[in-house]
Amino acid sequence: MGKRINKPSSSQAERWNSSIQATYGTPSISLVKGKGIEVWDVDGKKYLDLLGGIATNLLGHSHPRISAAIAKQAKELSHVSNFYSHPQVLDLAERLVKISGDSSARVFFCNSGAEANEAALKLSRLTGRKRVVAAVGAFHGRTMGALSLTGQPGKRDPFKPLVPKVAHVPYGDVKALFRRVNRRTAMLIIEPIMGEAGVVVPPSGYLKAAREVCDKTGALLVIDCVQTGMGRTGNWFGFEHEGIKPDAITLAKGLGGGLPLGAMIAFGPSAELFTAGSHGTTFGGNPIACAAANVVISEIEKYNYISLNSTKGALLRNLLSPIEGVTGCRGRGLLIGIQVRNGRAKEIASKLANAGYLVNATSEDVIRIAPAFIITERQIIKFAGAFAEICEEIYDG
Ligand SMILES: *Cc1c(COP(=O)(O)O)cnc(C)c1O
Repeated sequence: MGKRINKPSSSQAERWNSSIQATYGTPSISLVKGKGIEVWDVDGKKYLDLLGGIATNLLGHSHPRISAAIAKQAKELSHVSNFYSHPQVLDLAERLVKISGDSSARVFFCNSGAEANEAALKLSRLTGRKRVVAAVGAFHGRTMGALSLTGQPGKRDPFKPLVPKVAHVPYGDVKALFRRVNRRTAMLIIEPIMGEAGVVVPPSGYLKAAREVCDKTGALLVIDCVQTGMGRTGNWFGFEHEGIKPDAITLAKGLGGGLPLGAMIAFGPSAELFTAGSHGTTFGGNPIACAAANVVISEIEKYNYISLNSTKGALLRNLLSPIEGVTGCRGRGLLIGIQVRNGRAKEIASKLANAGYLVNATSEDVIRIAPAFIITERQIIKFAGAFAEICEEIYDG
């Protein structure tokens, strides 16, 4: 290990290309260490990580309590399969039921966001209906079922035929929901904020209207909280500010605090659709992943991160919005899309990386940040300063 760390990053790229498939493009940065919201690359260069493993490392990198819980669980029992129960999965399920605020909630554990949405799709079929409505531009994952829900032609088209009877409606358009969702619709699936699409926030009342049309037609309302869940947007789950109750929600990303873990939580009658043998996955509810998730929930509660996220998000937006070249700052809590002028997002992201800040350009016009909840005011100010400096170079230069 020691020797490899000292190799220049270009050789990391060569090794990547000669051993890993091309699905992600070749990363230009190779990371070896993280602590809090800081990470270090193979050459020892330090970065402030504003992306957090794509909205995943909620408590930052190498959090001492997560590391300790993982190590302890690994020493005691690392995997049992679903033939057996264990304390970590029970604790986590009970805590999720509790924070969902509905004792009828029942959890299905899996390993990723795509799997959580696959579970929701299968659940919806057990209503006896087959049609699904999702949003144009939405991202629900890449496996064939989840991809069928994803509303991005570039990702879908090469893999057709997909699961049939999925219609995509313009996001944020209430009339389109009422036109498309009907008594033959099994489920309507929506993100509270479209994350991958560039942090797109729907008009206020949209989720309420979604609830209303599902009540009217008997379709299940599934809210994909994979990116917006676990406190990121200033609520436990990204839809709560609209005061609605979905029939099911999906979680992943931040749930495991950096370990692969997903969940589909169903409520009321929907929680009884799956019966023994309906669905399953070998690793779902793995003790180590659950141990990490239990720490994530404890820490969020202990340090009151949920309300802090609203404050920190507001500070970020207030500092970033007035910067030359920034045309808008959208999002909620610590999920933020920074819109920039003249299609320079990728250039800004790459200059930020050179300056030691990791962000993600979701398109030519939007930079997404989703930092860990532990980010400090000082780090926020430092990042905004670097952002302003780079924009000045680009837009005034
Ligand atoms: C990332 C994401 C997914 C897919 O999760 P994976 O773990 O990558 O399968 C699904 N839905 C939303 C909203 C996401 O942001």
